[in-house]
Amino acid sequence: MTRETRPRGAPRRAAVPPCAPLLVAALVASGCAGGDGTARPVTGPPTVLLLTVDTLRADRVGCYGRSDAGTPAIDTLAAEGVRFDAAQTTAPLTLPAHASLLAGRTLPAHGVFDNGTFALPEGIPVLAEAFEKAGWATGAFISSPVLARRYGLARGFVRYDDEIRREQGQSGIVMYYDERPGTETVARALAWLKEQGDKPTLLWVHLWEPHAPYIPPPAFAAAHPGDPYQGEVAAADAALAALVSGIEREGRRGRLLVVVAADHGEGLGEHGEPTHGVFLYRQTMQVPLVVSGPAWGVRRDAAVVEPVSLADVAPTLLELVGLPPLPGADGYSLAPALTGKGGPPARPGVLAESHLPQLEFGWSGLRAIVHGDQKLIDAPRPELFDLARDPEEATNLADGRAAETAALREAGTDLLRRARAGALEGGSARSATSEELAQLQSLGYAGSGRRVSGGGLIDPGAADPKDRTGFLELHDRAAELARTGRQGEAIALFAELERAEPRNPSLLFQHGQALIVTGRHDEAIAVFSRAVTVDPHFGMAWYRLGQLLDSRKDAAGAETAYRRAIEADPVALDPRKALAGLFASRGRFAEAADLLEEVLALDPGNAALREQAARLRARAGGAPPAR
Ligand SMILES: [Zn+2]
Repeated sequence: MTRETRPRGAPRRAAVPPCAPLLVAALVASGCAGGDGTARPVTGPPTVLLLTVDTLRADRVGCYGRSDAGTPAIDTLAAEGVRFDAAQTTAPLTLPAHASLLAGRTLPAHGVFDNGTFALPEGIPVLAEAFEKAGWATGAFISSPVLARRYGLARGFVRYDDEIRREQGQSGIVMYYDERPGTETVARALAWLKEQGDKPTLLWVHLWEPHAPYIPPPAFAAAHPGDPYQGEVAAADAALAALVSGIEREGRRGRLLVVVAADHGEGLGEHGEPTHGVFLYRQTMQVPLVVSGPAWGVRRDAAVVEPVSLADVAPTLLELVGLPPLPGADGYSLAPALTGKGGPPARPGVLAESHLPQLEFGWSGLRAIVHGDQKLIDAPRPELFDLARDPEEATNLADGRAAETAALREAGTDLLRRARAGALEGGSARSATSEELAQLQSLGYAGSGRRVSGGGLIDPGAADPKDRTGFLELHDRAAELARTGRQGEAIALFAELERAEPRNPSLLFQHGQALIVTGRHDEAIAVFSRAVTVDPHFGMAWYRLGQLLDSRKDAAGAETAYRRAIEADPVALDPRKALAGLFASRGRFAEAADLLEEVLALDPGNAALREQAARLRARAGGAPPAR
């Protein structure tokens, strides 16, 4: 039952302990091929499953060494395939990392730097388009609004199921959204798969369970007492088990190619980070990556120890199924390493970036380059780690090893050059609607709507995020208080934090939101006014200011604020709708109709709004817009 790992190069860390005995039991019970090398009949239509588990730390999975992980489904797939022991995400955030998975690009090549305020640009070729063009059925089933269709990942998927139940929060402005349980997402995916008959099929399923808050179903909570995060990991694994069983029932197991990955890990308090999004340490950056597909030539029961990237997944899948590569992708195909026909690609390193600290907190951003056993986290004060001796990244060697630090930074420059060679002109910033931002806030994120400036990601003049861990802990605590309805305590904490960081846009925004929820509108106006002084391009703050002024009948002030919001975020929907409402209430029907027609150009599917625009146009005395 002990599995052998077959590292291609020198081992970079201690051998991974054997998988749990559960694994063997599962293999015997299902009668499937597995680590014992038994062949499964190669039958059924070609089926590619990309399964992403949100926020799953590699070291919380059984086949990565956790003995009580409760992850037999992932462990079984690893035993039947190849486990990557040093896979890195491209960013510790859901949308940017998934954009990398589907586009085969790192952040500088796809331009999706944050959740909520960015969408994958139209012109960037993506995995699902390539499969769809080749005649495959393509379906995606996601479990969180962070990946909703409007963020650009739906392209190429004939079915993109992001219908996630929506719950109204306690305020008219701040909405809370449920995640969709993995069991439900899987059931919908399997129902769709059934409809595909014998068509070759690409299926992407996204599970949200391990993302905070950690509230596992009772059975999984009981199996992992005192560790609700692990309970959520086990619940996600059970959903995967149901998915693979369902695929088998459809007669698709014989020619199934499976990739299991996480978009990022979770800090769980290490390096001063409770969740994820800011730092680039191992806890959030190393992800499980398992590929199983005996019928596609993928080796059994093997491991690759060299660092690879989530951006490599799309190029790899395309090569394995024989489709042409995506133009402009800067990810590398891992197909030769998977089939044993070659090794992992030679590369200057693996690149990752964190833009959230810069975009949302006004600090410096971070960039990581992993090469072999070395890792550089570039920052105002760079960190260099020797991963072979210090896998926990506890000892910063940068001061004593200037040459190695410089060499990794140079490798980063090469990687950036490679990434930008494929990037589109013009950037990708777009604004999200207030509802979208409220959704994200309910998940623990707050997009500020700021654009990426022309300056560098690493800003020596700005705060180094690692000097702000105390702030982050309190910030997360305040956000959690606000999320759970304890607005008074949240407001007190936000105010205290503001004394330490008076120019932090995300902090000001969240403080203002909490003030709105409690009806303290005068104070909210003062806070949002400070936010737009700190960041005059902070569209969402202008929008909130407009709403507040609007509600107190300051039409001129509201109009100015809405216009600033529209200027800051040229494709924003809500400030246009709000300004249209303001105009309509004052008899300015033509201007109101103009604005709603702009909204429709941006969001053509909104039938109710189309009728409203037509009515306004008629009242303005003009002809309704051409259909
Ligand atoms: Zn995520």
